[in-house]
Amino acid sequence: MEQLKNLKGIEFLTAPGIEMTGLVVHAFLTRLGGVSPGVFSSLNFSEKGGDSKENVGKNCEILAETFNIDPTRLFTVNQVHGDRVLVIKENPGRFFQANKSDYDAIITNRRGIVVGVLTADCLPIMILDPRKKVVGIVHAGWRGTSLKIVLKTVMEIAGTFESLPQDLLVGLGPAIGDCCYEVDRSVKSHFDTYQAGVRHFMNSGKKQKWLLNLGLLNREQLLEAGILKKNIYFVDICTSCNDNLFFSHRRDAGNTGRQLSFIGLKFDCR
Ligand SMILES: [Zn+2]
Repeated sequence: MEQLKNLKGIEFLTAPGIEMTGLVVHAFLTRLGGVSPGVFSSLNFSEKGGDSKENVGKNCEILAETFNIDPTRLFTVNQVHGDRVLVIKENPGRFFQANKSDYDAIITNRRGIVVGVLTADCLPIMILDPRKKVVGIVHAGWRGTSLKIVLKTVMEIAGTFESLPQDLLVGLGPAIGDCCYEVDRSVKSHFDTYQAGVRHFMNSGKKQKWLLNLGLLNREQLLEAGILKKNIYFVDICTSCNDNLFFSHRRDAGNTGRQLSFIGLKFDCR
């Protein structure tokens, strides 16, 4: 896969428009380059599936060293497939430790803070305002997408930091593609006002099944939010199709790890 980059054994993807600014450290990590064994092999960032705390901790160390991140300033949240956006304006410290529950997006204008989401099929989305110097990260599965979490995150960035949507650069990372993401009517009904992202599943043996395209749906919301088409980059690689590169909840029936996507303003960005 030609977009793949390698840094000290960690394989990852970037969003070229965001990378070109030179303002941030960011990556959509693959599963390659860590220490976890078996179904968590190898760069897993979640203990929820049963991987050990030691392995996940070691993977965090590898990440911090490879990308020159302060591990105490890497923030993730307890993701719940909702639409709440955590805003980090002050030095997070202990406040953050007590309030990291039940969010699916994080935005900040603090230099040196890295924000991340964990996924295994859901769509990770990163946002940068190179003018106001603000970053955001979003976790969008079908529920979050139906709640328009990315649209709400853009509105929160605009409201909190006075960003203009036309200034924002956005990267949509690897997620389960419409090659593999079959859903039933109960899921589809949440998108009945949408057209672009859901196309009918033509196989006659699969009545009442549809294929969901998370990337297209979120792209539509970004355009609705005022993001310019040229500022949206979509990796468009299926996590379920690429066993060698990505954890996939659907493919592995839940018995799998989580890959990390992250973005943070560099300390010295101007
Ligand atoms: Zn696929």
